[in-house]
Amino acid sequence: MFRTKTCGELRLSDAGAEVTLAGWVQRVRKMGGMTFLDLRDRYGITQVVFDQETNPALHEEANHLGREFVVQVTGKVAERSSKNANLPTGDIEIIATGLKVLNRSDVPPFTIENDTDGGDDLRMRYRYLDLRRECVRRNLELRHKMAFEIRRYLDDKGFIEVETPVLIKSTPEGARDFVVPSRMNPGQFYALPQSPQTFKQLLMVSGFDRYFQIVKCFRDEDLRADRQPEFTQIDCEMSFVEQEDVLNMFEGLIKHIFKYTKGIEFTEPFPRMTWADAMRLYGSDKPDTRFGMQFVELKDLTEGRGFAVMDDAEYVGAIVAPGCADYTRKQLDKLTDFVKRPQIGAKGMMWVKVEADGTIKSSVSKFYSEEDLAKWVERCGAKPGDLILILAGPTMKTRKQLCELRLEMGNQLGLRNPDEFSCLWVIDFPLFEWDDETQRFYAMHHPFTSPNPDDFHLLDTDPGAVRATAYDMVVNGNELGGGSIRIHDSELQDKMFRLLGLSEEEARYKFGFLMDAFKFGAPPHGGLAFGFDRMVSILAGLDSIRDVIAFPKNNSGRDMMIDAPSAIDDSQLEELQIAVVANPDKE
Ligand code: ASP
Repeated sequence: MFRTKTCGELRLSDAGAEVTLAGWVQRVRKMGGMTFLDLRDRYGITQVVFDQETNPALHEEANHLGREFVVQVTGKVAERSSKNANLPTGDIEIIATGLKVLNRSDVPPFTIENDTDGGDDLRMRYRYLDLRRECVRRNLELRHKMAFEIRRYLDDKGFIEVETPVLIKSTPEGARDFVVPSRMNPGQFYALPQSPQTFKQLLMVSGFDRYFQIVKCFRDEDLRADRQPEFTQIDCEMSFVEQEDVLNMFEGLIKHIFKYTKGIEFTEPFPRMTWADAMRLYGSDKPDTRFGMQFVELKDLTEGRGFAVMDDAEYVGAIVAPGCADYTRKQLDKLTDFVKRPQIGAKGMMWVKVEADGTIKSSVSKFYSEEDLAKWVERCGAKPGDLILILAGPTMKTRKQLCELRLEMGNQLGLRNPDEFSCLWVIDFPLFEWDDETQRFYAMHHPFTSPNPDDFHLLDTDPGAVRATAYDMVVNGNELGGGSIRIHDSELQDKMFRLLGLSEEEARYKFGFLMDAFKFGAPPHGGLAFGFDRMVSILAGLDSIRDVIAFPKNNSGRDMMIDAPSAIDDSQLEELQIAVVANPDKE
């Protein structure tokens, strides 16, 4: 046997036992005639002692161990004189009687500890070493546990996991497809799925009733912010359901995951907020509801005093930053700079302070009387000591800017604790989104989403006002997932394609298989998909999904470790009958 115990399991009660451990050399410390070795494996770290006096030869050998050597150690478990309360094995050490080097290691390019000196690029290039770090490994352990609990919950509810193909047909919707040339069909291409959407709907037509899949999806997007070209979804679909059934089923899933992976129990139902309210109160369809600071509209109170900024604005919105009346000029200027950054794009910011003694000060007191300002303060519900921040401009744009300002204030006031979780459903999304550039409607969710039956009559006359039967699950300001009740009627589906500007031929070419399937008894159905990577990162309290993916890509979509993507051989290209116009590797 290579080992009798792991490096994480020995306790004081094991004192006196003879054990053999195997693992990596975390570090070696010499202290007088003693050499201490921290031995690491997946399960933990155990201290091993080599004593010069009792075993000089072994002590000498230990002094030649390098970092990350793979060794096997035999010895006796003993109580430690100076215990380490930070380590589960910190009460004991192994008095070594045997040492075998199983493999040597080059000096690693960065220290393999939680507080590492390795920068991002270096750690990605040597990701297999990065994964030895406890903090990274813990994220993957949580990921495994979550996947396991998801399967347990869904299996218990009668869902079956069905794999859908990875080589499919290119029907780009929101994002660009990744494409794969077909050697057997020269000149033709598969696409990698952006999601298994149409397949899961076909499985409903097949009568599978309850489907799920933890599945890789692919989107060839410019990697803004925290995206990966390949990512994992928990994809689900159910038959004979209404929105309410879907929300209840998957609220149950989220609660189950929190309970069994984080020990957090939500006893109350998750709040539901309409999309319109979310935009009105938070300026976002994924509001961070860990804190209040809801928007207050002041347009009617600001009009007619000759201040053009307010008078010309379509919308005037305010938030109250509690206890911030003592913000200095400098702090307020910084906030103004923040909202004026090009990514946010506000023209300026106005403020009103309610001093501790109740007096009101404002950046716009030139234009407004004390009575005017007192009315704003009253509408905002601001108390002595509070600061009101105000933005004005076009409605949607200004709401988004105010949303950024609110989140910034939430950060400054420490109201966005990653260990606190606030979940809600956002419902009643609009069915369509108008795009000024292309002068056409796009599906806000996707083209298979059913309009809200109450709004059917608006489809022809006022499509922009039609609500979808679509919903998103939002946690701490992140969209964790979303879905919809689907269209299951081929005529309505056809109409939907038409409203989205697809000609009959185009719709037929792209989605003929689905429209045909709907003619053979499609049941009413609906579902959703959760972003699994995002879910793990939120539960782990992390900002980046990269930290919860074993082998992630960087912001240019590159795998730094295996150096992909890369050029392929001319012979491969020839076989595929593909000519590359610009080949960066050959230039
Ligand atoms: N397929 C959708 C998505 O990837 C989710 C759904 O509607 O089930 O966003």
